Amino acid sequence: MRKWIGKAITDLLNLFYPPVCLLCGSALANGEKQLCARCVCGLSYAGFRGVSDNPVAYLPVAGEKPVSATAYYRFEQGGGVQRLIHAVKYLGNKELGYLLGRWAALDLLASDEDLFRKAQLLVPVPLHPRKYRKRGYNQSEWIARGMASVLNIPVCTAAIQRNVMTESQTGKTAYNRWANVADVFSVSDPAQIMGKYVLLVDDVITTGATAGSCINVLSSVEGTQVGFFALSAALP
Ligand SMILES: [Zn+2]
Repeated sequence: MRKWIGKAITDLLNLFYPPVCLLCGSALANGEKQLCARCVCGLSYAGFRGVSDNPVAYLPVAGEKPVSATAYYRFEQGGGVQRLIHAVKYLGNKELGYLLGRWAALDLLASDEDLFRKAQLLVPVPLHPRKYRKRGYNQSEWIARGMASVLNIPVCTAAIQRNVMTESQTGKTAYNRWANVADVFSVSDPAQIMGKYVLLVDDVITTGATAGSCINVLSSVEGTQVGFFALSAALP
């Protein structure tokens, strides 16, 4: 009875306040979630589908290289992707992170993306516990959960941890950014990733310093291979 009343209220609200697209504000059609099909098609895509020799694979500036790496969207200042990532990170819209992760995995898996077929475990880049408490969730974990719903592999949040609250990465040179994040992460439970092909998941890659630091600590575990996926890449 309560469920029926809940649905009736939702239907009534949708009649007067139909859900609208986050980017263009137009009413969503049946089956559309958060974004209209037109805006989804209009997003900037990185264009690395099936391209293993892409710029993200070369980004981490020091230490271990990932076995394979890619990004799905292109992050541009003022663009639609930036607005979506902002909503996922700062406006509490973690469900959008889940959706974007799911869409990316559906598309990349269909294109026979090697990286996605090999992965046995998804590891989101961790937040510092204090930042996690403040935000209430880790956006990269929600992206990873969306991907996991397609790839049917587990999400592991207990293998690595962030020990240091890093300053904002904005406005630093590539070298300083690297120095700022080296040794920031450590392995907390090696047994979870030992001997596995792990896919590290991040929301945005810029210089690769944060991802590089994570890849270093994951690769230090015996027999662990690390691939890297960023939902978006801010590339020059
Ligand atoms: Zn739209």
